[in-house]
Amino acid sequence: MCPHTPQCPAPNGPDREAARTIISHPEQGWSLLCNGIVIFEDTGELLPGGDAIAPHRPTDLITPAVTIGQDPLQPADSRTSAA
Ligand SMILES: [Zn+2]
Repeated sequence: MCPHTPQCPAPNGPDREAARTIISHPEQGWSLLCNGIVIFEDTGELLPGGDAIAPHRPTDLITPAVTIGQDPLQPADSRTSAA
């Protein structure tokens, strides 16, 4: 079924998103991969068997940290005297 060499990953494999895109509709927010997966721009997926995979953006795994540029270990007034 897959004409590519090397063959695209199976839809049930961990690397399934690496399959080639054969139909792309960015204006509609989805693409069809060679292995039958429909992948959405929010990283949600629809598998060939009808199963759905919830969006799993890498940013969802990052917990909000301290504001960039502020060092919580340094008192605020130590920076003003250093300059
Ligand atoms: Zn393929």
